[in-house]
Amino acid sequence: MARKKIIAGNWKMNMTPSEAVALVNTLKPLVANDDVDVVFCVPAIDIIPVMEAAKGSNIQVGAENMYYEEKGAYTGEISPAMLTDVGVKYVVLGHSERRQYFAETNETVNKKVLKAFEHGITPIMCCGETLEQREQGVTMDFIRQQVKVGMLGVTADQAKTAVIAYEPIWAIGTGKTATTEQAQEVCKGIRECVAEIYDDATAAAIRIQYGGSVNAKTAADLFAQADIDGGLVGGAALKPDFGQIVNYK
Ligand code: PEP
Repeated sequence: MARKKIIAGNWKMNMTPSEAVALVNTLKPLVANDDVDVVFCVPAIDIIPVMEAAKGSNIQVGAENMYYEEKGAYTGEISPAMLTDVGVKYVVLGHSERRQYFAETNETVNKKVLKAFEHGITPIMCCGETLEQREQGVTMDFIRQQVKVGMLGVTADQAKTAVIAYEPIWAIGTGKTATTEQAQEVCKGIRECVAEIYDDATAAAIRIQYGGSVNAKTAADLFAQADIDGGLVGGAALKPDFGQIVNYK
């Protein structure tokens, strides 16, 4: 069965709740496309207003992070039950900014991935190499490690529903998109890695996004690649351009 594309916006630390509602109202008609899954991953405080503003549309709402404990003395964190209670279906986990600024590791990402599945939330698990690693020729080794550790303990049935976002760090927020060949090569490598961990059926079902300065001009070529099942979009998700990305065909 063909994989449905998933195009997700990662708003990062942008948009106050009132700005968020205005943005959803602007984007709602522009992202109307039932052929793809459209997900707005937004700051925690924006989740409820964005859900309300998006009601009746095809927009699904996701979180940008989540903690791996159920509840308790973890000041400042958001629990999985807090997300599911308001209907969140997706969560971005292990974004490179969280790894870089908040010391997330493959191991903590794995705990979060397991916890997300336990609560029926689909993880969008991020991976990606630095420019230095690319230049040293260790891109695939590094990413395979991120994927293997990130998915430890995840069953094949769960993995089939997961989303992995390949985001080369050197392409995030830099305006420097990976070439379609570079993006396809790594996404194919990730699919092969999933086949090694599980089996061909799981590899054929899991959705793999590309992220890194995707824009209205680059989306169509990237999403036409055999192993790229959509995108995780930062900067361009905050603009009407996101409508063109969602309607890339
Ligand atoms: C991201 O935040 O995941 C991202 C890919 O950002 P940008 O599209 O701005 O590079």
